[in-house]
Amino acid sequence: MTAVQIPGNPVIEAGQLVSTSPATGVEAGRLPVATDADVQRAVDRARTAGEWWAGLGFTARRERLLRWRALLAKRIEQLAELVHVEGGKPVADAIVEIVTAIEHIDWAARNANRVLGPRRVRSRLILAEFSGHLEYQPFGVIGVIGPWNYPVFTPIGSAAYALAAGNAVVLKPSEYTPAVGQWLVDSFAEVVPEQPVFTAVHGLGDVGAALCRSGVNKLAFTGSTATARKVMAACAETLTPVLIEGGGKDAMIVDSDADLDAAAEACVWGGMTNAGQTCIGIERVYAVDEVFDTFVDKVVTRAGRLTVGPEGTDIGPITMPGQVDVIRRHIEAAVSSGGRAVLGGPSAVQPPYVHPTVLVDVPEESAAVREETFGPTLTINRVRDADEALARANALPYGLGGSVFGRRRAVAIARRLRSGMASVNSTLTFAGMSTLPFGGVGDSGFGRIHGEDGLREFGRAKAITRRRARSLLPSMTFERTPTDVARLVKAIKVMYGR
Ligand code: NDP
Repeated sequence: MTAVQIPGNPVIEAGQLVSTSPATGVEAGRLPVATDADVQRAVDRARTAGEWWAGLGFTARRERLLRWRALLAKRIEQLAELVHVEGGKPVADAIVEIVTAIEHIDWAARNANRVLGPRRVRSRLILAEFSGHLEYQPFGVIGVIGPWNYPVFTPIGSAAYALAAGNAVVLKPSEYTPAVGQWLVDSFAEVVPEQPVFTAVHGLGDVGAALCRSGVNKLAFTGSTATARKVMAACAETLTPVLIEGGGKDAMIVDSDADLDAAAEACVWGGMTNAGQTCIGIERVYAVDEVFDTFVDKVVTRAGRLTVGPEGTDIGPITMPGQVDVIRRHIEAAVSSGGRAVLGGPSAVQPPYVHPTVLVDVPEESAAVREETFGPTLTINRVRDADEALARANALPYGLGGSVFGRRRAVAIARRLRSGMASVNSTLTFAGMSTLPFGGVGDSGFGRIHGEDGLREFGRAKAITRRRARSLLPSMTFERTPTDVARLVKAIKVMYGR
């Protein structure tokens, strides 16, 4: 890369990564590009810092994390403005993103001790003479690689939980949003100035690759499924465990007894917030025949009201200029294969903006239905009943989130969605509930952030047994006698042989 040509595309100038607004091209951030040696140094420093941080214990870490959370809350407008300038996201959406992140920091800080701290575990009749002890110890250094679409929420979804668990974190933000990543680590350093517990390295994909090979003790990746494969391959060389939060193509199912106004409102929000650049965004909708036409009308009315532009609008620019081509290709594929644009269409693509587009009757084989579009577009297809909706929704390799609107059967349908998460009579809400785990199945990845599972993801289970009495049935010793073994056999038959 040489010079800023296309607004939004980052460039490297004299060893600095320069990010720009996708709407105006104005410079948003300028950060030094890390070499492989810089990445290694950051991880080495983090290892020492991590030992110090782990040694602080849960109570002191909680206090620091809560101060960090307070700092984010106090400066929410400043951070939202930076997210807006660097990624193009409307300020109101940036505020919602940061609020969610703050909630996660708070929950992780307050619950890490309860979920991960040392506790007694009940023993059973076998080995009853021992007590069981369990705790989750930090890995050491966690590498976090993040995407640009939620540059606060996604890194914090891993980092806050990793930090609360006692790890140090080295973050590689997306090349599109390095300034936001740097803002996060700088603000953390204000409340933890003693050691580089949470730091960032900047650059292009090769810096992320260097982080995978740097000897981090675990790598938490959020990004596309294609890059996830590369990350896993690199981490496999050193048996570095990975957490993968990959892409998605989330479906919404509208059953016959759904509240159609609520469904349409949530559908437009779930599909078009952040200009549709949301991993758990609704991209495909399956509405049952009897409500299909009314539902589509309501969606079109609401989506048609959304404003598009650089400032004070509902929908901002597409953050990654290259993504506009993908969105255009999907809309064209839908229309050329027999689908109909009932709102927007190919002419809605006006770089760097894409206006709301609603496509109906799109063949299931179309790229618009099968691939991640990441634009303010929806496909809505007619189905006979909820079973057909489920069969279609579950037909893709992705399985991140999903949504169901309905009454009697809605929860049962949500359970049958092949996804890690689902929201009934809302969209995207599971992401903001810090008590619930977040993650996908299939091509959408594995492992969980958020909630208790999200804390355990960043701790190694450490199991300890402790003798509390003499063994009545000694078996795990060469001192045992044939009589002991015979009694053991008898006991096991009484206990388990029926
Ligand atoms: P990418 O996969 O392109 O990039 C993700 C991160 O990986 C970036 O920081 C990128 O750096 C880095 N990277 C690129 N190449 C490598 C490599 N070889 N080794 C290590 N790291 C590398 O995703 P996007 O940034 O475009 O984000 C959008 C994607 O993220 C969508 O697919 C979306 O669904 C998914 N996503 C998933 C979420 C989830 O929770 N499941 C949440 C949010 C988004 P650089 O930017 O410098 O190339």
